[in-house]
Amino acid sequence: MELGASPYRGRQLATWIYRKGVTDVAEMSDLPRDFRTALAERARTALPELERATPSQDGSQKLVFRLEDGARVSAVVMPDDGRVTLCLSTQVGCGYACAFCLTGTMGLTRNLTASEIVGQLLVANSLLSEDERVTHIVFMGMGEPLANYAALVQSLRILTDAKLGLGYSPRRLTVSTVGLVSGIEKLAREGLKVNLAISLHAAADEVRSRLMPVNRAWNLEALMRAVRAYPLAPRQHVFFEYVMLDGVNDAPEEAQRLVRLLRGVRAKVNLIPFNDWDGSTFRRPPLARILAFQSILLEAGVTTTVRWSKGEDIGAACGQLKEPAVA
Ligand code: SAH
Repeated sequence: MELGASPYRGRQLATWIYRKGVTDVAEMSDLPRDFRTALAERARTALPELERATPSQDGSQKLVFRLEDGARVSAVVMPDDGRVTLCLSTQVGCGYACAFCLTGTMGLTRNLTASEIVGQLLVANSLLSEDERVTHIVFMGMGEPLANYAALVQSLRILTDAKLGLGYSPRRLTVSTVGLVSGIEKLAREGLKVNLAISLHAAADEVRSRLMPVNRAWNLEALMRAVRAYPLAPRQHVFFEYVMLDGVNDAPEEAQRLVRLLRGVRAKVNLIPFNDWDGSTFRRPPLARILAFQSILLEAGVTTTVRWSKGEDIGAACGQLKEPAVA
């Protein structure tokens, strides 16, 4: 490094930050005093400031972070069945303007740095009790992870590195994308082995392009080609998210179309009943229609779950993350 220190020092530093959760250089007692002083002058170790932690009735918690420039992002901690899943953000706002998504109405302010991405996890872990930590991480908060590619990959490496980083199994990490084909192809080549989730939301181009402008750049054929080429371990699947919108994409014929689209893909489908927000023009379909859609997929042999979002009462559900940008 720039300070001329040995790789050994680097390992010590990584151990303090990622293993012991200590970010104040002054507390890193096994580092020589001179080195600590030099480091404190040049580098900064800081976690995003936790502005608010709002508990939901369902046990989840929404964390709102205030970043150094005043921008805000949120993350959601979701304990469930012995797991603790963290949904974290990769950008302030989002530039993809999916019609049903509240974050999409904000536009993109900026990318998060890898430090701000990993920082959300470090803070979340510090809020849990001694014997608990986040077990699964989904990149499904604000922003499009693959549009912030370099920081995404850097954060994935820190999260998965067993020696210097946090040692998470890549199979416990899931990167969710609107379908940036170039990004999916690049990620495939990194050899990271993380799970891939595709926000699909429609099985016909005409419907998908209306809901997701990105489909005009990469249509379903291009998207599915990239998905099929994504390397999977033996029992690994690609996840497909499908937000259920009343009268838009919830017809039985759409389910059948989806079955055809996914033929030959090791897929798991998550149906997400639409979460309402002020000013949205969409509605959640009646339960019976959601279940009928699910049955068609199940009968065709496609593993399909209905994902009831957590934290709806605290504005933490899928597509509800929005914070006043600066204050
Ligand atoms: N940009 C990435 C990461 C965000 S993930 C992506 O799109 O995959 C957030 C998930 O919630 C996406 O699948 C998104 O389509 C879905 N979503 C957005 N708005 C929603 C809403 N109002 N109700 C339910 N799901 C929504």
